[in-house]
Amino acid sequence: MNQKIIFLGFGIAAALGGTYIGTQFLFKSGHDNFIQHKRTVDFSLLKQKDTVLPVAIIGDGPAGASAALYTSRSDLYTVVFQGPKPGGLLTETSYVENWPAVGKELGSRIINNLRSQAQEHGAVFVPETIKSVDLRSWPYKLSNEDGQDIYALSVIIATGAVPRVLGAPGEKEYWGKGVTTCAICDAPFYKGRDVVVVGGGDSAVEEAAQLAPHVRSVTMLVRKDSMRASKASQQHLTSLPNVKVQYNTAIDEIIGDGKVVNKIRLLDTATKKTSEMPIDGVFLAIGHEPRTALFKDQLNIDENGYIQLKGRSQETSVEGIFAAGDVEDHVYRQAGVASGSGIKAALDAYSFLQSRGYTKQIQQQLQPKLYEPQAQKGTVIAINSLEDFKKEVANSPIPVVLDFWARWCPSCLRMLPVVELVAGRFEGKIKFVKVDFAQVPALAEQLQVAKVPALVVYKQGEVVARYFDVMNKSEMTEFLQQFIA
Ligand code: NDP
Repeated sequence: MNQKIIFLGFGIAAALGGTYIGTQFLFKSGHDNFIQHKRTVDFSLLKQKDTVLPVAIIGDGPAGASAALYTSRSDLYTVVFQGPKPGGLLTETSYVENWPAVGKELGSRIINNLRSQAQEHGAVFVPETIKSVDLRSWPYKLSNEDGQDIYALSVIIATGAVPRVLGAPGEKEYWGKGVTTCAICDAPFYKGRDVVVVGGGDSAVEEAAQLAPHVRSVTMLVRKDSMRASKASQQHLTSLPNVKVQYNTAIDEIIGDGKVVNKIRLLDTATKKTSEMPIDGVFLAIGHEPRTALFKDQLNIDENGYIQLKGRSQETSVEGIFAAGDVEDHVYRQAGVASGSGIKAALDAYSFLQSRGYTKQIQQQLQPKLYEPQAQKGTVIAINSLEDFKKEVANSPIPVVLDFWARWCPSCLRMLPVVELVAGRFEGKIKFVKVDFAQVPALAEQLQVAKVPALVVYKQGEVVARYFDVMNKSEMTEFLQQFIA
């Protein structure tokens, strides 16, 4: 086996034009038992590539961040592409009680700690989204939002899952105007109001519990005659006096006055009778879909959209490509399991690279070609009063983007670095302003912002657009392009 490694090692060294000698490849993989690789790659391919990455991790939830901790700790240069929702779903829950050895802790804090730990070992986290991949030949091509091609020697896919939506009439029209999937972000906007939570799983119970202290009433709409949530979750519901459960009920239509939701049409799934319910907010918690569109037709994906793995490893149907977390796990779907699978994927990636003779020395030779994210941040000023608004926004000669955020809203905190990066692209053409909702609620009301994060575009003295969701860098750039001449 070592002979082969030496041979491949020479291949890569020669390809890089270095004076590297074979003995340096005489180390043995500690993880060879996990996966067996065909050692038939042509390393001379690296010579023609400008931007190379030993380990690319797509997604930085518990799976991606844990993988980054292990690969970077093994001295493999690792870049984590955080994607459109940095931190993943764990940042949208409040407290987590079952993260081993930690006790009760905020999901967003667990993710931040995990990320910092990986960064301490050298992992680089970048708020970029990978737009396309070509996994047909090694090294694997990943294209970022700027159209730059990055050639990865190994890839860990940890793209997680996205919340499911109903597809009911009115849902799209009133998105961010009464319809949402994030109770922790939006609960404070529904103080003293009546809301429904759709779904009967653990997430739905969690949403109801997050809403209960803020709202007047929560009605959980469960389409069957029983809930899927665990016994412990259902027990928790009984301690919330303003939460009730309505079984055999589905939403047929979401109705509003053109501005905000004010009622829903319900279907009794047992009798098929419909009825109407006046309501101020609709919180969806109906499960998630694995985020695998990027890999369609390139990896083996099952009929439910989950990436398929080989045996007990995290390796996908393509050698050197690994997957971890909700993108491949339709059984356990727990943050701790995602983290463990990320660790497995990292060990598998390490083993894969070792089997190709990849060493620290080779990494050093690759240094000039290693991908280093460019982060040119622009200016984002903070406004804290209506006077600031008049001065900085109302009288601005160029369009202004107001990013409404709140300390309690994890999606908002994830958006701020993206706004800074996009501001760098529009320097002098668009002014960027961040508004802490809690500091200037009157401004939020004036500009009809009832959900955070929210982007409001102000041009020539009036609001010309509002957007109520998380955007990645390229989506935000594209969205704002229309406002400059
Ligand atoms: P689940 O898939 O467990 O539950 C989804 C719920 O939404 C079900 O009640 C389902 O109904 C309902 N539903 C699905 N589609 C529709 C629709 N179109 N209309 C109405 N209702 C619909 O998803 P969760 O996000 O709740 O949980 C995912 C995983 O994460 C689970 O394993 C869960 O245990 C875990 N989790 C754990 C937590 C914890 O431990 N604290 C917290 C949150 C999640 P039906 O049953 O009829 O299909």
